[in-house]
Amino acid sequence: MSGPHLRDFNRIVFFTGAGMSAESGVPTYRGAGGIWKEYDYRRYACQDAFNRDPAAVWEFHNYRRRLVAACAPNLGHRIIARAGQREARVTVVTQNIDGLHALSGSRDILELHGNLWRVRCDTCGVKQQDSHEPREQLRCDGCGGWWRPDIVWFGDFLDDATLHSAKQLISSCDLFVSVGTSAVVYPAAQLPEYARAGKALRVEINPDETPASDLYDVHLRGPATEMLTRLADGDPHLLDPA
Ligand SMILES: [Zn+2]
Repeated sequence: MSGPHLRDFNRIVFFTGAGMSAESGVPTYRGAGGIWKEYDYRRYACQDAFNRDPAAVWEFHNYRRRLVAACAPNLGHRIIARAGQREARVTVVTQNIDGLHALSGSRDILELHGNLWRVRCDTCGVKQQDSHEPREQLRCDGCGGWWRPDIVWFGDFLDDATLHSAKQLISSCDLFVSVGTSAVVYPAAQLPEYARAGKALRVEINPDETPASDLYDVHLRGPATEMLTRLADGDPHLLDPA
């Protein structure tokens, strides 16, 4: 007797957070080893700081770029990418800005918090995609304004269109798998609610219970790579609601 398998679902959303990239060694904002222990984020990751001293904010983000550039996608990223290469429609909705889902081959990705490797002009709004290098040119070629990382800083709003697409996809999926996120920060914290309203089977992969655990039918307690491997292998009874 084998339980439901990934291939039994038509529309799958993987909702990923810091725990997805932890096994790649990507430093996190919060928690043990968070980079905010070394840097006071109020000085480096908000619009006010950027307005005051854009060069200092870039120094910090180029430091982050160097840390993340040294990280590679892990087995979990690759399992999700492979699922997306099958017929089923698979979307990744991520809070991560590291770009590792794209690097592992996932194609349908909504980045709620932007991308560390993209910049937008703080004056004219034009965007540019960078390679995985620190940024040297800090001024927009068109208008001379400052480039800023195209990521959601503390106090920034999420991009409306991205959030709207995420809600629509999550409302209409039949399998919703959260990986390594406690989703305590709004509006990302609302997203599992849309999966519940849409009657998707909801699976939480996280080593620990989270404030959102009650929203899930199935709880897989363990590292992301191990639990995604079992999910992809069709481990019997893995998805039996408990
Ligand atoms: Zn510009």
